[in-house]
Amino acid sequence: MKLLIIEDETELRRMMAEALRDAGYVVETVKTYADADEKLHLYEYDCILLDLMLPDGNGLDLLKMLSARGSASRVIITSAKDSVEDKVEGLDLGADDYLPKPFHLAELVARVRSLIRRSGVGTHSIQVGNVSLNPDDRSAAVEGKTLNLLHKEYHILYYFMTRPGRVVDKQVLAEAVWGDNADQSDNFSFLYQQVANLKRKLKEAKASIAIQAVYGFGYKLVEEA
Ligand code: CA
Repeated sequence: MKLLIIEDETELRRMMAEALRDAGYVVETVKTYADADEKLHLYEYDCILLDLMLPDGNGLDLLKMLSARGSASRVIITSAKDSVEDKVEGLDLGADDYLPKPFHLAELVARVRSLIRRSGVGTHSIQVGNVSLNPDDRSAAVEGKTLNLLHKEYHILYYFMTRPGRVVDKQVLAEAVWGDNADQSDNFSFLYQQVANLKRKLKEAKASIAIQAVYGFGYKLVEEA
């Protein structure tokens, strides 16, 4: 789960990022309209926290751009302008939720969690073959027996289990698990290492699913007969 926080207030941006990272999300942040616009053209996010009043633009214009592109990203507007007009316009433009400032960080985390749950890829347990994942406590099990995974291994497995049978580009996987800066290195050794560890753990636990390499492109999750 990768999130983008668009917020120009430094201290608030830092606290939001910390709270959401603690909750287990991969978090990217930007402080201007221009930076947000650039990120949104380059990367995909599961959820976007959108401040409306930015020093160089109005967040509603970013929302218009996302909606015109048919983006699948979920959007929560966070705004100090608690005006009914902004709220209505934001929701009309496709925002999923509206959180007026000031808000408690616990409320922010709860709203993000609830939104991701509603979008169907959230906290219900996910089952593929004999492997189950529980996003609530970030645990994995094979036929009910706990699989001991490191944090990044869990995120990789989650990514595959929400996309069974689909070919996953290694670049996109790296960005989803390590954040946007994963693309600043063309060295994927960290990714190969974690995927190799995960494959070994699945095999040792006699999982009926496996991560297969797709030559020159990435991987896919397959169910073994
Ligand atoms: Ca602002």
